[in-house]
Amino acid sequence: MPDVDALTRDLDEIQTTMWDESRPTVLANGMLFSDKALLTRVAKMYSVRECREMIVWESSPDVYKAVCHRWFTSFHWMMRASKKEIGLWKVSKYIGTHNCKMDIFNRNHFNLDVDLISLQLIPHIEAFIRYKIKECITCVHQEYGCTITKRKACLGRKRAFKIIYGDWDKSFTSLPRYMAALKHFNPGTVVEWKLERSAGIPEYIFRYVFWAFKPAIDGFVHYFPVISIGGTHVYGKYDIKPLIAVAVDANEQIFPQLLSSVPMKAKRRGCYF
Ligand SMILES: [Zn+2]
Repeated sequence: MPDVDALTRDLDEIQTTMWDESRPTVLANGMLFSDKALLTRVAKMYSVRECREMIVWESSPDVYKAVCHRWFTSFHWMMRASKKEIGLWKVSKYIGTHNCKMDIFNRNHFNLDVDLISLQLIPHIEAFIRYKIKECITCVHQEYGCTITKRKACLGRKRAFKIIYGDWDKSFTSLPRYMAALKHFNPGTVVEWKLERSAGIPEYIFRYVFWAFKPAIDGFVHYFPVISIGGTHVYGKYDIKPLIAVAVDANEQIFPQLLSSVPMKAKRRGCYF
């Protein structure tokens, strides 16, 4: 029979010593964190808000230690935490007062890195996908009182996009499922893939995908006999560009016919339709 009182007591102790998001700069000896990522993030947040910089002294799968960046000149802020058997990280030693002089960080706090910036930007980019670099800089300044460079803002926004929408590889992995859903919910839709295999590479290599919705196929006989092809460039890890073929119907309305995603180096666009 488990000792219910002891279990309850332990649970209460864990809850009362867990780091509290509403009081981000309150750190203490014995404080618990759910994982190392949160622990390192909190250490950085604390340093930025306190207008001091810290350096990571030790970082391993089981131990994390950060110290004031003026540690070598006898200034003594320090936090050491280790991973416990239950999976939580516990602060085992904490010297919580900076006795160094407070710095003025108008720009470029060392610990205000892309990770912290992206977390700050995520809710804003989720709400408005065209969140501008200028707005990113203002947003971070309002939160931390530091002005970041455009480069950091750009990298932070890029990281936030990746966290929210996934990366290139994830997008390509989702493509077959997405196309299958298009066919399922639009009966009669045609999807054609061009995949290749190279010697020594076990996976197929994506070349292009072509699809045409059933209403566009049925409407083909009613279009004017001129088809326009337009495309846009996708800048990033892969050289691809989405193309679209459109025509004009008897009411002079633009009608999308075919869509395709092809390599950027395609010389003759029409050959994919
Ligand atoms: Zn210090």
